[in-house]
Amino acid sequence: MSSYDVDLFVIGAGSGGVRAGRIAATHGASVMVAEEFRIGGTCVIRGCVPKKLYAYASRFADEFEDAAGFGWTLPQKPSFDWSFLVAAKEKEITRLSGLYRANLDRNGVKMVDARATVLDPHRVKLSDGREISAKYILVATGATPAMEPAIPGIELAVTSNEVFDLPALPKRLFVIGGGYIAVEFASVFARLGTKVHQAMRADNVLRGFDGDMRNGVRDALSHAGVQFHFGTLPTKIEKSGDTLRVTLSSGETLDFDQVLVATGRIPHTRGLGLEAAGVELDQQGAVKVDAYSRTNVPSIYAVGDVTNRVNLTPVAIREGHAFADTVFGGKDITVSHEHIATAVFTTPEIGTVGLSEEDARAAYDVVDIYATSFRPMKATLSGRAEKTIMKIVVDGKTDRVLGVHVLGHDAGEMAQLLGIAVKMGATKADFDATMAVHPTAAEELVTLRSRTARYERGA
Ligand code: NDP
Repeated sequence: MSSYDVDLFVIGAGSGGVRAGRIAATHGASVMVAEEFRIGGTCVIRGCVPKKLYAYASRFADEFEDAAGFGWTLPQKPSFDWSFLVAAKEKEITRLSGLYRANLDRNGVKMVDARATVLDPHRVKLSDGREISAKYILVATGATPAMEPAIPGIELAVTSNEVFDLPALPKRLFVIGGGYIAVEFASVFARLGTKVHQAMRADNVLRGFDGDMRNGVRDALSHAGVQFHFGTLPTKIEKSGDTLRVTLSSGETLDFDQVLVATGRIPHTRGLGLEAAGVELDQQGAVKVDAYSRTNVPSIYAVGDVTNRVNLTPVAIREGHAFADTVFGGKDITVSHEHIATAVFTTPEIGTVGLSEEDARAAYDVVDIYATSFRPMKATLSGRAEKTIMKIVVDGKTDRVLGVHVLGHDAGEMAQLLGIAVKMGATKADFDATMAVHPTAAEELVTLRSRTARYERGA
């Protein structure tokens, strides 16, 4: 008999926490999971899932326009109802959240709808006053949006936490930041009919992505009506009636209905009692962990965004699963953070895996590039001015594919499969030996015969 109330206490019922709790329970552990908000975490409640639903909603705008080129006449000008979308989204995330809860129940995991704080290496305190002892504690509290830059009036801005539930579709939206969240919402709102301005301190969107992808997204968003302010940040936001007046570092002032701040996310460790329990945090406040997601306190582990490794849902899920298998399942599993395919759900999407051209050139002696840019087949009849861009980055010495980058329809779907090839160590010759699926856009990836550039270090 254990001398603890439970074998595992999980703080946070997001992707990582729920997976860890469920798998630990299947290994026979007694598990309690505490969640202060809604089960499902950022991804299900106010992240990936609603974001993708809103991206779908936004793309109908293009579909209605494109249909004309294929012989369709719409009986009337389509109109969009924001409140309908918000309600439909709410219904779906409520369903998903319910499934998460049912899944935990079915596996015998006890859910507590309360905030939990760590008291010491084996005890947590719940906001309902109870104290629970646990053999292990898993911190899976995710991250929260940063309210940066800290300018006067920044509190008037909304974050990705609130933007899905705005009371009305803004006519004018100012987006601060140039990362994933900023470009995805700029893309969604521009298509839903909002006049979008987007400002960032950098000279291009999506730092860290391949340069051609960055330029492609920038151009596609500009074409969709997003007005960029590069190398520019707001210096203050003022409210006057229903209007938010934004002053830019350039001196210009502009009026908006809403301001969205998307300047990164901060690991959610504040007020959790971790420091008091002796858990080491890094400078950003992230929980420091080893390859097994273990902190410096042997009974306390952490997975997902709170550890600020690779902040993506599938990564948190894998980390949670590996933790449970290792600690409760008698296995020895760590998670590889290499070759993680990912997507940015702008329209068009970016799908990417492996090294960008820039990173490959910094790390390898000889880098070969196979790139193409073409008009997607659908655009031939729709007349839409759009480009699909594809790039394969190859180690010129070994022929191994280091990275593949796609900007275009369903690029996220392509990235998932490209991820397998790159993870397996595929060479460019393997790509070339693969028969094309015709007619698809993805077939270009196996028919790119001509090298477009070779870079030799020091040459
Ligand atoms: P990102 O790190 O992607 O982007 C942050 C943006 O904010 C950058 O443009 C950055 O500029 C800017 N920024 C950061 N700090 C400041 C500051 N103090 N003042 C002004 N600008 C600043 O963060 P996001 O919030 O967009 O997303 C958070 C994470 O969520 C991502 O890293 C990703 O892991 C995950 N995510 C994944 C998605 C997906 O897979 N499709 C979708 C959404 C989120 P600079 O480039 O100059 O540093």
